[in-house]
Amino acid sequence: MKVLVVNVGSTSVKYNLYEMDTEARLAAGAVERVGTANAEHVHEGGRDKVAFTGDKATAADVQRAILTHLRRSGGPLAEPNSLGAVGHRVVHGGEKLIASVQIDDKVEEIIAECARFAPLHNPVNLAGIRAAREIFPDVPHVAVFDTAFHAQLPPHAYTYAIPHELYLQRGIRRYGFHGPSHQFMALSAAEHLQTDLSKLKLVTCHLGGGASVAAIDGGISVETSMGMTPLEGLVMGTRSGDLDPAIPMILAKDGMTHEQIDELLNRKSGLSGLSGIGADFRDIEKAADAGEPRARLAIEVFVHRLRKYIGAYAAILGGADAVVFTGGIGENSVRVRHQVCDGLFYMGVVLDEEANKTSPAAQLGGGIVEVSKPRSPTKVLVVRTDEERMIAREAMRCVVGASGAIRSVRARPIPVGVSVRHVHLSRADCDVLFGPGYELTKKRDVTQPGQYVTRETVDLVGPKGEVRGVAVINPLRKATQIEVARTDAFALGITPPLRESGKLDGTPGLTLRGPAGTVTTTSGVILAHRHVHMNPQQAKDYGVSDKDMIKVRVEGDREMTMGDVIVRVNPDYDLDMHIDTDEANAAGLDNNSVVAFDGVQR
Ligand code: ADP
Repeated sequence: MKVLVVNVGSTSVKYNLYEMDTEARLAAGAVERVGTANAEHVHEGGRDKVAFTGDKATAADVQRAILTHLRRSGGPLAEPNSLGAVGHRVVHGGEKLIASVQIDDKVEEIIAECARFAPLHNPVNLAGIRAAREIFPDVPHVAVFDTAFHAQLPPHAYTYAIPHELYLQRGIRRYGFHGPSHQFMALSAAEHLQTDLSKLKLVTCHLGGGASVAAIDGGISVETSMGMTPLEGLVMGTRSGDLDPAIPMILAKDGMTHEQIDELLNRKSGLSGLSGIGADFRDIEKAADAGEPRARLAIEVFVHRLRKYIGAYAAILGGADAVVFTGGIGENSVRVRHQVCDGLFYMGVVLDEEANKTSPAAQLGGGIVEVSKPRSPTKVLVVRTDEERMIAREAMRCVVGASGAIRSVRARPIPVGVSVRHVHLSRADCDVLFGPGYELTKKRDVTQPGQYVTRETVDLVGPKGEVRGVAVINPLRKATQIEVARTDAFALGITPPLRESGKLDGTPGLTLRGPAGTVTTTSGVILAHRHVHMNPQQAKDYGVSDKDMIKVRVEGDREMTMGDVIVRVNPDYDLDMHIDTDEANAAGLDNNSVVAFDGVQR
């Protein structure tokens, strides 16, 4: 499936075309000077002037030019109907559009509403969408929002301490931006660390012209530095980031207009305002090396603010598995990574100065490089971000329901095995119950290889009642273990605890009656703690480890989520969740059922 990603800015349109089977980029280009009579399409083959219908090239003229170029004979879309979807980058989705979505008229309307939070971006994004829907009417169009990745920020992170009505009535809150980039960093880090994203705590730093940090816990953004607009947070190329909110008020009192303050904080501040040189970090580094004090100060303020955020986010996450850098500055500036990571040993960061210096950008090639020492508990990773690729993935997921890493794992079913009450016997107890040296005989296999239900049964005799004909599972064990459901325990008149198999300390005993004799045990009766067996490969696929607690989702008439399911990993195991009859009945499950993995609990 081919996906075209369109990123419409105020004066430019960038596009990338992907073959999603391999994620290969088939074409990329940009149209500059949109909205003028000199719009030019720059592509792999050269530059073309964009033909226009009115007095200047509009968004529609531009998209037509792109389409004609891609559909030229021998071009990547020469075959009719070969385009599967168009993904559009949209800056603000507000509180209504909190995930990527197929665009219809209603979605367009909401994007227009959200323009009040992003007046420079949403209207041009929308113009691009409208033009593209006109030019490619038969293809699904998907909006991918900068804000959406942060849509699950908890209220204590997104709420500003101003009268709460301002949030309730006007939506004034933190939204966060650079979502596709933070998401791409998180997925790349998980892949590099070979750990499921749901188990990772990450601080991701996007340091480009705009800059933001995010704290990502288990794949979910729980805090981010940009706010209601992209002005808050880090020092950026021309944006101030954080400052005392009284400053604009004082400036206004001193006579500056709203527009002048906007211009000051958005376009004249940040690295540019501090250094007096401009927003390009390379120039500022050069000037700093030459001893220019304002350039030095600009870098110091930039780095100090970033360190402050990384420390704060490590505190929020309770430590980080990795700090990830991207963006023109994050990927390229050895100095920034060095200064930021210097002294972060307290949070487990040990930078490998050599690896950091040997210009990771040169090695990146679209990938990821580790620049921390192998012994560093917190890894430092440099990623070449690819927001367009992330948008393409999202567009495809929306159209065909295909999957990001987490979703496919979640969708994978786990078969259910219902354990009816049963007994594992020791040699000594088997001798008493069935006669010395008696060999139990196989009736049928159970799901775990090597174990089977025997033809023999025993009766359980408790202080209050009896349960007859209880299955005996072979092979024999070191100690006799009796697994019952809670309902059985009531009938027997005992109160066994919830236990993992084999953990029998302090458990009650019971009398077992067999054809050759009777045994009264002093311990060994348990309610089996629900668990899922898997082999190491299956554990890897789910991103879980032995003894993790996971949640599973049960669908059907008695839909529920079961928590506290213990993972047991062993090369001899096969994928199977074991629950007892009470649990199965409560959830409407039987031996033909499956449940869905619903994430790691602890
Ligand atoms: P945008 O956010 O506009 O996409 P980029 O991610 O390309 O921006 O980042 C632009 C910033 O990265 C600029 O400040 C630029 O100077 C800086 N940058 C690019 N290359 C280097 C480099 N080799 N060393 C330091 N900074 C760099």
